[in-house]
This record gives sequence, structure tokens and C-alpha cells, in this order.
Amino acid sequence: MKAKKMDHPNQGITCEVSNCQYYMTGDNCSAEKIQVTPRHANNSGETDCATFIAQ
Ligand code: SF4
Repeated sequence: MKAKKMDHPNQGITCEVSNCQYYMTGDNCSAEKIQVTPRHANNSGETDCATFIAQ
């Protein structure tokens, strides 16, 4: 899911994926919204951010 990139952090998200185009210093995400997949996960390790775009 492509999301609008904002010029400030999304206060509702903390993210450590520093090689994502949406990543901002301080473990912030500048995406207006994110999508998390898959639909049926058994634990947090099985979930992924589908909005991620590699730098
Ligand atoms: S889009 Fe996803 S992976 Fe990228 S910085 Fe935001 S939360 Fe992290």
C-alpha cells in the first residue's frame, strides 16, 4: 500500500526499519498511514509492514 509521505513523524507509529523510505530519525515513520499484514498472524513476529519501501 503506497502512502503519502508527510514532512513530520506520524505520532502513532514507532519504527526501527531505518532503510525504509518513510523512516525518520528517532525511530519515526513519516507515512500518513500504514498497512500491516498478513491477515492471520500467530504472534507479532509474523506481522510485517506492507507500506515499507526500500531506500
Ligand atoms: S512505512 Fe512501515 S517500515 Fe516504513 S518507516 Fe513506516 S512503519 Fe516503518
